[in-house]
Amino acid sequence: MNREVVAHTERYRIIKQPLGLYKANCYVIIYKDVEGEKAVVIDPGLHAKQVMDMVGKAKVTAILLTHGHCDHVCAVDGVYAMTKAPVYMHAGDEELLHAKRRMPSSYKGMFTAPFITISESILDVGGLSFYVYEMPGHSRGSVMFQLEGYLFTGDTLFKDSIGTTKNYNGDEQSLTQTLRRLSFWDPSLIILPGHAEITTLGRELLYNEKLKSYINTSDTGRPS
Ligand SMILES: [Zn+2]
Ligand SMILES: [Zn+2]
Repeated sequence: MNREVVAHTERYRIIKQPLGLYKANCYVIIYKDVEGEKAVVIDPGLHAKQVMDMVGKAKVTAILLTHGHCDHVCAVDGVYAMTKAPVYMHAGDEELLHAKRRMPSSYKGMFTAPFITISESILDVGGLSFYVYEMPGHSRGSVMFQLEGYLFTGDTLFKDSIGTTKNYNGDEQSLTQTLRRLSFWDPSLIILPGHAEITTLGRELLYNEKLKSYINTSDTGRPS
């Protein structure tokens, strides 16, 4: 099952579990307020029941999407049906919901639940404050969510790798700009990526050769 608690602070804990054929990381942030236990779900990729199992008895206050690729959103409808929690996604990936693409049969179409569009700003959901960064490149509507020292990077930055732009609505030049931004951010940020293991921004800036090749690129947008 590979479920693990990747963060435990006074206020919340963050649970990570890779879901589905593509092992997209779903994160559930469990926290408490005066009404009881609450949860924010990030990227419910597949198997709504498994996502709800991560949530447990907590009340889901929001479903946040780092981007609109199928491996990250295919359980949105299922989780929405069970929780009626608001869904947040950047408008740049709305077209993905309507694009006809060949996917393995376990990924049946995209979601149809209503969603609230987000852009670069502070997003307060259920008493938690996230910063939303618009980080296009891997997809037009890719964003990162920052909660205190934790950065949910979706498919834009991984441990030792970066997201491809070869999917529908990816763009190399945007990705270059996006990855360059990261070089100015706090290296102690803990990276919670859309696939594989967690890492820190500092480690990736030092050892992630793909990231470095984009940051050190010439202005033509081509990695040097
Ligand atoms: Zn993915
Ligand atoms: Zn993706």
